[in-house]
Amino acid sequence: MTLNLGETRLEAVQGDITQQEIDAVVNAANSALAGGGGVDGAIHRAGGASILAECRQFKGGCPTGQARITGAGNLRAKKIIHAVGPVWDGGGHRESELLCSAYRSSLQLAVENELRSIAFPSISTGAYRFPLEKASKIAVDTCKDFCSEHPGALDLIRFVCFSARDLKVYSKLLNPL
Ligand code: ADP
Repeated sequence: MTLNLGETRLEAVQGDITQQEIDAVVNAANSALAGGGGVDGAIHRAGGASILAECRQFKGGCPTGQARITGAGNLRAKKIIHAVGPVWDGGGHRESELLCSAYRSSLQLAVENELRSIAFPSISTGAYRFPLEKASKIAVDTCKDFCSEHPGALDLIRFVCFSARDLKVYSKLLNPL
């Protein structure tokens, strides 16, 4: 499913985030930037040790709701943007605001680094248990808002869904009808 917003294309695909040929791949990182399971583990395994070595240079890691950028090691991307989403804790702990901020910080970093295409995993919806319906709406809405605020700054925003179920949810959100 694809949605064109001015000069930026938003698309949802089913796949593996580590296999994307794109300028920026976003990692669903933890605030220690120390590697982990899920997307984080897959990116560090596929990308090689240089990524973790670069992450270690961010002393104190990265606060929830923010992002940091490193090289992409062996991945077919130019950069990795490590975004830290919130752990879901019932919804009353600023989870939505922090997730929005994680997406927004990633998009901002991409533009600052002259990266024109970016692939996101579904941040916080795995080990961090953020409900997918809510999280995907925040992801798509935040990206749409960013595109209206920065027309022409990005060519492509891709949502990489691990499962067919996730793809269905994202596709619905990108369907303008
Ligand atoms: P978080 O800790 O932010 O919840 P996870 O990595 O546990 O992040 O999960 C985020 C989402 O990414 C989940 O939907 C999970 O199924 C999915 N996922 C896991 N591995 C990959 C991968 N290699 N490519 C794309 N998505 C993945």
